[in-house]
Amino acid sequence: MRIDIITLFPEMCEAVLSESIIGRARKSGAVEIVCHQLRDFAFDKHRRVDDAPYGGGMGMLMMAEPIALCFESICEEIGKKPHFVYMSPKGRTVTQSVVKEYADEYENVCILCGHYEGVDQRVLDMYIDEELSIGDYVLTGGELPAVVFADALCRMLPGVLSSDECFELESHYGGLLEYPQYTRPEVWREQAVPEVLMSGHHANIEKWRREQAILETAKRRPDMLLSAQLTDKEKALVSSAFEE
Ligand code: SAM
Repeated sequence: MRIDIITLFPEMCEAVLSESIIGRARKSGAVEIVCHQLRDFAFDKHRRVDDAPYGGGMGMLMMAEPIALCFESICEEIGKKPHFVYMSPKGRTVTQSVVKEYADEYENVCILCGHYEGVDQRVLDMYIDEELSIGDYVLTGGELPAVVFADALCRMLPGVLSSDECFELESHYGGLLEYPQYTRPEVWREQAVPEVLMSGHHANIEKWRREQAILETAKRRPDMLLSAQLTDKEKALVSSAFEE
C-alpha cells in the first residue's frame, strides 16, 4: 500500500511514522508513506494556504486550490486516483473494522489533514471520498488523526507484523477485548501468574484466554457483546458474570 499525507506539518507526521514498527515497515518496503507539504502548492509569494471564512466568524479556513493542486500532483505521480480521505470530527468513526476495510480494499490512500477551522467545502465536495474521525472531540489539526489512522492501517498490511495472528488475537479484531497477559517474574509483589498459564497445557490455556476475553469484554465493554459470536456455553458465562 502507498499512503500519501497532505499536511502543513509533514515533520510532525514523519516524526511518528519513521519510528518503531512502521519505520521498519517503510524501510523494508512493506508500506510506502509520502508526506507532502501543502505550502509547496501555494500560489503567492508568502506561501499562504488559508483565508478568512465568507460570512464571518472565528478563525481561518484552508483554501481549496492548493489542496486540489497537491492532490492532482499525487494522482499524476502514482498514475491513478488514490482513495482520498479527509480527517474530520464530522467523519465516520475509525474502528478496527473500518481499518480492516481499508487494508483489504485500497492499494493507494491519500489523507488530508485539516487545520485552523477546517477546509473550504468545495474541495471536499469535489475530491474527498470519505471523511474519517478518530473520536467525538476536536483536535487542533488533522496530523494526529492521520498518524493514528495510518499506524492502525499499516499494522494490518502483509509484512508489517510478523504474522496475521499478531493483530487477529488482539482487542477489537474478533469483536472482543484481549485476555489479561503476564510476563516474568512468576510472582511479583506477592501476586502470582494464573496457574493455568504455567501448565504448558495449550488447550486449557486457549480455553482460559477465550473465557477471560469474554469476561473482560463483559466487564468493560458490554455493548460489544451484542455483536460478538458466542456459543451457548459462553453466553451462560456472560449471564453468570452479570449476575455476580
Ligand atoms: N471546525 C471544525 C468542526 O467544528 O468540525 C473543527 C476543525 S479542527 C480545529 C481542525 C482540523 O483538525 C480539522 O480540519 C480536522 O482535519 C482535524 N480534526 C480535529 N478533530 C478531529 C477528529 N476528532 N478526527 C479527525 N480529525 C480531526
